[in-house]
Amino acid sequence: MHSPNQQPDPGAAAAVRAADRAHVFHSWSAQAHIDPLPVAGGEGVHFWDYDGNRYLDFSSQFVNLNIGHAHPRVVEAIQRQAARLCTIAPHFANDQRSEAARLIAEHAPGDLNRVFFTNGGTESNEHAVRMARLVTGRPKVLSAYRSYHGATHTAMHLTGDPRRWPTDTGTAGVVRFFGPYPYRSAFHAETAEQECARALEHLEQVIQFEGPTTIAAVLIETIVGTNGILVPPDGYLPGVRAICDRYGILLITDEVMTGFGRTGAWFGVDNWGVVPDLITFAKGVNSGYVPLGGVIISDRVAAEFADRPYPGGLTYSGHPLACAAAVATIRAMEDEGIVEHAAWLGEHVLGPRLRKMAESHPSVGEVRGLGAFWAVELVRDRRTREMLVPFAPTPAQAAPMNELAAACRRRGLWPFTHFNRVHVVPPCVISEQDAQRGLDILDEALEVADHYV
Ligand code: PLP
Repeated sequence: MHSPNQQPDPGAAAAVRAADRAHVFHSWSAQAHIDPLPVAGGEGVHFWDYDGNRYLDFSSQFVNLNIGHAHPRVVEAIQRQAARLCTIAPHFANDQRSEAARLIAEHAPGDLNRVFFTNGGTESNEHAVRMARLVTGRPKVLSAYRSYHGATHTAMHLTGDPRRWPTDTGTAGVVRFFGPYPYRSAFHAETAEQECARALEHLEQVIQFEGPTTIAAVLIETIVGTNGILVPPDGYLPGVRAICDRYGILLITDEVMTGFGRTGAWFGVDNWGVVPDLITFAKGVNSGYVPLGGVIISDRVAAEFADRPYPGGLTYSGHPLACAAAVATIRAMEDEGIVEHAAWLGEHVLGPRLRKMAESHPSVGEVRGLGAFWAVELVRDRRTREMLVPFAPTPAQAAPMNELAAACRRRGLWPFTHFNRVHVVPPCVISEQDAQRGLDILDEALEVADHYV
């Protein structure tokens, strides 16, 4: 499929590829083993390469592109702001920064009324944890094994998943626990209710054995993202809130992936009416058009810094271009009903269609999700739940998933795959027609996985 508004330019692709190979050091990759697709442009739920191949984006890039590429209101806001004031240091006040903070606070639950801006999700978690340690005077933070919180030193150690292994120094002050995952229960639970009760009991025991007065915060993804789109049983997050309250521990919810409409609510916690002490965000706040993240801070936590300085800052905190993009994004989300659309998609399109695929494909072990945030978990054997590729696979073990991803791409669908899962995470603005077209392609491509059953 060719993009309608850009002429193919294969010569440009070769030049981009050559310069990339010579000079760009890519994240998470063995440099000699990758061949990144040179991307020429994007619009809405599609992007295209220089050869004119067009892809329907079922990944939202890194699950950040909630409003799709080139939203005219956001592009115009960035252009307007660039002509007016490209940068201003964080100790000045700025209209775009204050309006972005006001809008974010307006959509945040409870008394979370103040925003500390960062450049992305990792920095947001670093600062939220620092705030919690300063406010409580306690050293430890609890995070889940099945979690990703970022890639700098502290954030990587707060991360539970194998991405931490190569640089793990066993950082003091981080203690991990198991969260709920009914399909692969760490607690031998047979129902979601049992899983919920046992996961809460386990968390409380970890706290008791670590020493409640040594724990500053529990840091938790409201719906675990890259580690499987694990929607918690209904009582879990309210239960975590209650445990934190019992021991004077702050609750930090990492909404970097789940925030700003992804789950069909403004924030993941809204699905369960939970009010944390701190929320970290990034990605969807401006769909990643300009890097932006932040910590939304409760009045109670903010008050702790009324008379003592917060020891932390960033040159680009509240960058006016990023904040202008956030203001335009949030207003577009409000005016166009994008959050409601994401909820509708989950309920009427993605959920029903994926459940149907689970019936017809023997490789599908489970589908789960909310809004525009779904996972298809693939197995070799439904009875034993043996994973299609193992946890933390070697490149050779990952082959079945790579074949499946390639089958999607050949048909014009850009998927998000991780370990033994396909994450179905299109932009929240995707139309029913485009969503169904992407699901048709996924349905066909899943035959690749069925061959391994
Ligand atoms: N937290 C979660 C839940 C994430 O999914 C991510 C990134 O995928 C991060 C934190 C890190 O965000 P960033 O890559 O913007 O630093």
